[in-house]
Amino acid sequence: MILDDFVLINDKGLYCKYGDFYLDPKLPAKTAVISHAHADHAVSGNHEVYCTRATATIMQLRYDRTAAKVFNVVNYNQPFNIGKVTITLIPAGHMLGSAQILMEYEGTRYLYTGDYKLQPDATCEPIEWVNTDVLITESTFADPAILHPDPVAEIQKINTIKTNILLGAYGLGKSQRLINLISTYAPQKKILVHHRIMPINAIYEKMGFTLGAHQLYGRKLMKTQDEFVYIVPPFTFDSYIRATGVTRLFASGWKNLQVNQKDTLFISDHVDWDDILETVTRTRPQQIWTLHGDGQHLKNHFNNDIFVKLLN
Ligand SMILES: [Zn+2]
Ligand SMILES: [Zn+2]
Repeated sequence: MILDDFVLINDKGLYCKYGDFYLDPKLPAKTAVISHAHADHAVSGNHEVYCTRATATIMQLRYDRTAAKVFNVVNYNQPFNIGKVTITLIPAGHMLGSAQILMEYEGTRYLYTGDYKLQPDATCEPIEWVNTDVLITESTFADPAILHPDPVAEIQKINTIKTNILLGAYGLGKSQRLINLISTYAPQKKILVHHRIMPINAIYEKMGFTLGAHQLYGRKLMKTQDEFVYIVPPFTFDSYIRATGVTRLFASGWKNLQVNQKDTLFISDHVDWDDILETVTRTRPQQIWTLHGDGQHLKNHFNNDIFVKLLN
């Protein structure tokens, strides 16, 4: 039997009272199961955290001693219990260490996807599928009008640009995927990386994900035009607004964020509409509960076939 109140949103975030834990709490909690290390999912100051090794390592890099009192590092596909809830972390394909969180309670399965993607990404574990009774999915791009372009075609656009490129991107996840894509599909480019991104790259490499050739940015290097691509986090990108001799591009799944559309590489680490439909086919839920975004399109789409509940 599906319990309608199995997870609910309160002021700290998504809470499961049957196991007394939070999923990706937005404020520090006593017990947190964390899907991945992006800052909007992994806050500092939780007492006890359950997550993958990569998520713990990145949280410790970012938050140091305040990361959490206790880290319980869990392997993928290795069930554990919190109270009477059995939890299994399943690869989510979103970034290194990202996990879907499968919760089983009294014979019913609830799958919280966290952020996830279906597109291939050589810098993280590919998504895996499990059947569930309730699919609790992010709905950031749950709109039939949103279909993500092919990331390879997007990255190949830089082959036509002969000046040096300043490429803005989030430092965690996106930057590593870009290094891999550029070194694969634009191998003549010389990749320079902002110093804030390098320690994250080191974690990826240590965990067995080879990113491709890149080096730490040095001011002298960009003085010559030599097909350099300098990857910088958003705050640095914004401070280079008047930079000359470089083409400014921003890699994002969002439209019109940092730059205009023609200067955007549309590379998303989230599911688009078709991906969500495929996820429903693969996980075979009786109900879909939506988070982050707008579940109304899904509700209309599945109409009488699958019950859709908007959690936010
Ligand atoms: Zn994320
Ligand atoms: Zn997110």
